[in-house]
Amino acid sequence: VKISVGRATCGRAAGAEDVYTFLQDVVARRGLEWDVSTVGCLGFCQGEPLVTVQQPGWPRYVYSRVDRRLAEQIVEGVAAGKLPKRRLLGKIYSDDLLLTGEKVDLAPEGDHPLEKNPFYGPQVRIATRNCGYINPESIAEYVARGGYLALKKAVQMQPEEIIEEVVKSGLRGRGGAGFLTGKKWGFARAASGDVKYVICNADEGDPGAYMDRSILEGDPHTVLEGMAIGGYAIGAQTGIIYCRAEYPLAVATLKEAIRQAEKQGFLGDNIFGSGFSFRIRVVEGRGAFVCGEETALIASIEGRMGEPRPRPPFPAQKGLWGKPTNINNVETWANIPPIIMRGGDWFAGVGTATSSGTKVFALVGDIKNNGLVEVPMGTTLRQIVYDIGGGTGVFDLKAVQTGGPSGGCIPASLIDLPVDYDALTRAGAIMGSGGMVVMNERSCMVDVARFFIAFTQDESCGKCLPCREGTRQMLELLDKICKGEAEMSDLELLEELAYAVKDTALCGLGQTAPNPVLSTLKYFRDEYEAHIRERF
Ligand code: SF4
Repeated sequence: VKISVGRATCGRAAGAEDVYTFLQDVVARRGLEWDVSTVGCLGFCQGEPLVTVQQPGWPRYVYSRVDRRLAEQIVEGVAAGKLPKRRLLGKIYSDDLLLTGEKVDLAPEGDHPLEKNPFYGPQVRIATRNCGYINPESIAEYVARGGYLALKKAVQMQPEEIIEEVVKSGLRGRGGAGFLTGKKWGFARAASGDVKYVICNADEGDPGAYMDRSILEGDPHTVLEGMAIGGYAIGAQTGIIYCRAEYPLAVATLKEAIRQAEKQGFLGDNIFGSGFSFRIRVVEGRGAFVCGEETALIASIEGRMGEPRPRPPFPAQKGLWGKPTNINNVETWANIPPIIMRGGDWFAGVGTATSSGTKVFALVGDIKNNGLVEVPMGTTLRQIVYDIGGGTGVFDLKAVQTGGPSGGCIPASLIDLPVDYDALTRAGAIMGSGGMVVMNERSCMVDVARFFIAFTQDESCGKCLPCREGTRQMLELLDKICKGEAEMSDLELLEELAYAVKDTALCGLGQTAPNPVLSTLKYFRDEYEAHIRERF
């Protein structure tokens, strides 16, 4: 019997450590030789602590909101051959049901399969396929799920063939910009130089977003494997994971995973006898949001101030220590092993024509089911908010904010918008890294815009004038509006400033900072005007 507790940061915050040690004590007290183990986050953060129970011949039972009482009942239930129904989220009949979208109905009629749970049913988990299923501290469990087979396959291919496969997949960077990953790898491969680098950007900083943390804490080896494949494809022997220091569990999990992978020969010299050598190290972030920008991130790794620089030269030509460098974020790397195993065409068959595959979203805010969801690109906002998220309760939906501080607010009237890169951009928002904040009718959209501008103003590195001064002045205007001290003409000034910052700021942070203001002015101008009118 194996009882696993979701011990990612979200689980720990909800009391998973207490449940974990309690289960260990109960099992020991009863003299049972059961395995009380650890898994990452299964995504249903609303229901943490989550506990799963496995025993031969049974489906995997998933329990939510487990406390000591329920933990004891679970142990008693397993011993008696009759597991409790209380807080049973569902049963998993095949761990691959959620992996590919190839839903197979294995559950008996009238049973309670997890894939028919409204939260899980519409999901297709590719990047998060192992999160919540395997012990992230055990390389053996990753290998048992097919781990490192993609790397074995990759080192028997020509580097150009790998890049071709990634191009075919249509995978776009999941960090925000949405650039084609295969094309980016092609630039780094074509760049001249004996020394090249691959970097994993794990400096996830958007408020409300934690997709990357969850992957790092739940399935670190998929990132290592993806990076090793990327290194082989572009001709790099060194990988660096730039992980935000505010994620201590992710940093510790990664370091242990690297140690195990080196010990097993999946990282190091002569991988799978191919002659290819690849090593990875972790660098902890310096606590600045702007360090998530590629050139600032490189400067930070080099020990310099984490400030962006103008491009070109692009990192693919002149990156870390002046050498060709390819940077992708955590979720992008996590998609690479399945693409190599199943082929680019398979991946391109999921999602839409211009946005293939899936996207992981952190679904938070005024919504019944908070958590991490991975859905095919093109899934509508309605499906995410109502079918998966369970809706907004007694208060009506007002808007969905996507893309964090760089994103925009989509009004409830656009609820049938398919979520892909292009549709979101057309609506005045962006995909960003995957933050999705749901707001009900009680939210003030001017306050929302003010919150995000205050965030970007605080995080602006101050290197260029439009961002440094422009966001400050925008924040002053928003303060005036919120206090009821503004004139109608201030709205025009705010809009003019927003476009000026967008058009002239040096890096992505400044160029996208006005998005929350511009999108709320576009869809909720009446709220700004009401704030101003209230003054009279
Ligand atoms: Fe720094 Fe902002 Fe300029 Fe980017 S846009 S370089 S964050 S001041």
